Amino acid sequence: MKKEELPFVVDLHEKVAVVTGGGGVICSCLSQALAACGAKVAVLDRSLDKADALAKQIVADGGKAKAYLGNVLDKASLHQAHEEILKDFGPADILLNGAGGNSPLATCADEKVTVEDLDSDTKNFFNLEESGFQFVFNLNILGTLLPSQEFASDMAKRKSGSILNISSMNAFRPLTKIPAYSAAKAGVSNFTQWLAVALSDLNIRVNAIAPGFFSTTQNKALLWNEDGTPTKRTGKILAATPMGRFGKVEELIGATLFLLDEKSASFVTGVVLPIDGGFNAYSGV
Ligand code: NAD
Repeated sequence: MKKEELPFVVDLHEKVAVVTGGGGVICSCLSQALAACGAKVAVLDRSLDKADALAKQIVADGGKAKAYLGNVLDKASLHQAHEEILKDFGPADILLNGAGGNSPLATCADEKVTVEDLDSDTKNFFNLEESGFQFVFNLNILGTLLPSQEFASDMAKRKSGSILNISSMNAFRPLTKIPAYSAAKAGVSNFTQWLAVALSDLNIRVNAIAPGFFSTTQNKALLWNEDGTPTKRTGKILAATPMGRFGKVEELIGATLFLLDEKSASFVTGVVLPIDGGFNAYSGV
């Protein structure tokens, strides 16, 4: 990604940005934007192949980046990655907590519960797997907490830094079928506010973006039938989005740069910014 492709440029030269889930759809785009603004980007992912491909792309585009293997649910693995990042780039100025997601194990087949569900094998409220809930809560909540503990230590020592979490539309109002993901992202929003207050004396700002509907690999099965036609859910989403379309991942760049940049958002902490084409504002009537 070149500077010219950004909505605007902020000066992140000499800043070290750690991006968890950096190899994923959203964070590979945001990592490229941070690099195009001059940041040294540590692309941390449990998939080293994906992180490495992105880091190589950033370097080929003239930026600075390196891939690190790291599991956001494993303190030792985060610590190991942190040590390597310190050696290669220095202490973290920016943390983008991008690793997160849902699980089919915690997803219901239908929007509403019926009494027949009690004896049914279809995935429903009564037979949802506890392990699915645990997986989704851990990935989104612990997966935000543990990297924040690890990398905010650099920021605390220098009394400067910025953390950006990724919440979701369903944190404001839960979406049907995905109870664990909705509750987990509500937790991420709440934790964002908590951490913003807790770290305020250390001059570390903590904010979140709450993307609306973006058609990516994570939600592919919910949005598109196998033959490529839109699902019923896609029709409902578009009808409930005043702007009448899915977002493009690049449309998250502006808010990300604004919130992470210490000059642009110097007095902004504890906010959860919807980027949703008006979904959250629309009552449906
Ligand atoms: P994605 O699945 O493309 O990317 C997630 C990345 O995180 C992957 O590269 C994966 O390897 C990595 N990851 C998963 N578990 C990990 C772990 N334990 N440790 C380290 N890395 C791990 O997902 P995405 O669509 O790019 O979503 C990124 C974030 O945005 C997530 O928090 C997601 O919940 C959130 N979000 C996405 C949408 C959407 O429409 N796609 C909407 C709202 C919020």
